[in-house]
Amino acid sequence: MDVSSSPAQQDVVVVGGGHNGLVAATYLAKAGRSVLLLERLPATGGAAVSTRAFHGVDARLSRYSYLVSLLPRKIVDDLDLRFAVRRRRISSYTPHGDAGLLVDAEDSARTREQFVRLTGSERDFDAWQRFYAMTGEVARRVFPTLTEPLPTRAELERRVGDATAWEALFERPLGETVEATFSDDVVRGVVLTDALIGTFTHAHDPSLRQNRCFVYHVIGGGTGDWDVPIGGMGAFTDALAAAARAAGVRIVTGAEVTAIATDGKVAEVTYEDVEGGGTRTVGARDVLVNASPHALAGLLGAERPPRPEGAQLKVNMLLRRLPRLRDTSVDPREAFAGTFHIAEGYRQLQTAYEQAAAGRVPDAPPSEIYCHSLTDPSILSPELAAAGTHTLTLFGLHAPARLFATDPQRVKEELLAATLAQLDAVLAEPLADCLATDADGRPCLEAKSPLDLEREVGLPGGHIFHRDLSWPYADEDADADRGGNADAAGGNGERLAHVDVTQATGRWGVGTGYANVFLCGAGAVRGGGVSGVPGHNAARAVLERAR
Ligand SMILES: Cc1cc2nc3c(=O)[nH]c(=O)nc-3n(C[C@H](O)[C@H](O)[C@H](O)COP(=O)(O)OP(=O)(O)OC[C@H]3O[C@@H](n4cnc5c(N)ncnc54)[C@H](O)[C@@H]3O)c2cc1C
Repeated sequence: MDVSSSPAQQDVVVVGGGHNGLVAATYLAKAGRSVLLLERLPATGGAAVSTRAFHGVDARLSRYSYLVSLLPRKIVDDLDLRFAVRRRRISSYTPHGDAGLLVDAEDSARTREQFVRLTGSERDFDAWQRFYAMTGEVARRVFPTLTEPLPTRAELERRVGDATAWEALFERPLGETVEATFSDDVVRGVVLTDALIGTFTHAHDPSLRQNRCFVYHVIGGGTGDWDVPIGGMGAFTDALAAAARAAGVRIVTGAEVTAIATDGKVAEVTYEDVEGGGTRTVGARDVLVNASPHALAGLLGAERPPRPEGAQLKVNMLLRRLPRLRDTSVDPREAFAGTFHIAEGYRQLQTAYEQAAAGRVPDAPPSEIYCHSLTDPSILSPELAAAGTHTLTLFGLHAPARLFATDPQRVKEELLAATLAQLDAVLAEPLADCLATDADGRPCLEAKSPLDLEREVGLPGGHIFHRDLSWPYADEDADADRGGNADAAGGNGERLAHVDVTQATGRWGVGTGYANVFLCGAGAVRGGGVSGVPGHNAARAVLERAR
């Protein structure tokens, strides 16, 4: 399309109002740009929202994402966000028969006792301490680089400065390190789960996607801690939307972008006004795309890459009371305050992966549970809090979209039943007895498959990170293909014909091959998770280009 004569009506159009689109828009508006943000849904926030999920019940659940680790303090400060997180004292609890493993982040003597009780010796506790001291040091060194121009692989390796750590995390399949470091199956499983969140893979995958997932799960905040957003995840994106508006961003919801045309200097963005009806077109100097790379290809009329595949079941529940545990040595208020692992032994994880990869619902679907209201009761009405009501979030692993292809509802019910049976097996009373009911007398429980997430939030294939996570360094081969840093200052117009527009790269890892179209969402290099990082980096790329 010839867009050379269309006047730029906006400095910047942002396609999508997920948290990353809001971060990018706010940075750019604060830098003096006119910014229009177009969001398909009736509200902003994307996969980072809170909702009253159950009819007549005043509990604001983080419907999709629920914990914060990767959000740099710098973004909260730069954008003057009224938002805070709270640390969880208990990092995890893993039931095992009538016993279990409680990891208390503030009491290493207690944690040591727990390891001895479960494994019969101090060996795995000592290995645990050394292993997480190593990842903590890597976190301290790597996390600050996420909001700097992309380092090369060699630069990042120098920054890590520890050949053993580099090899364990960046070069060898994580399973090798886990097996060489820990001997107990439960302990190995707890470590491995961070490599499998939202990522359908296994410990020895030669592509190392499990390592990439693991790295992002242990570097957040420079510590690897996963914190509770006070007021729920919606409090974060509400604060962002308020900051965006205060900075002058025009936010239009119910606006689905259907096409982007660009000559590299000026762009035209076409969108459907979902409520008012009709098609509109707006001109812009730069376009930032918060939608997935898969969607971006469609918007640019380029060839779409293979659809990513999400692999999780998300269940939101409200309980009248916390269930009692078979392991009577642990108070449920502690066990559910951290990440509560179910059927996540190392061998169980492998079996579940193999069964799901073969197209079956796993016999023992692995999952993890956590109770937000134990750390932050502010998401409940005072009446619910006083009555002892609690939220419960379950994130199930190894539930790839392919399982749901032919009979989505039946498979979801089968998977939900099998998952809850694994939970019931470690409880002293059935979970069903503890579920609250809504105003219509229905149990307060909702389950989301990858297909639901695709339909509701637009996650391609239900992939929670828009696609598999990338290494946090430059893909030098892709950059060479493009003749240099495609998102750098002065990138020159026409896209190279053979370049895959979805292969984000360039100085900030947000380039698309078009000098004025940038990815600002989870699919960018160093995107994925609730971080604001790709939003920040896309804004930096735009501001540098303008210099
Ligand atoms: C069930 C679940 C649990 C998760 N748990 C966690 C967690 O605890 N912690 C964590 O850090 N991460 C978690 N994640 C991942 C995290 O939520 C996402 O990676 C992150 O929210 C992505 O943010 P984003 O702004 O880049 O994209 P999104 O949140 O996907 O937002 C993209 C926005 O673009 C809009 N859009 C798309 N196409 C168009 C179009 N054509 N026109 C206009 N608008 C469009 C969408 O409607 C959406 O609002 C979870 C995700 C899910 C689904």
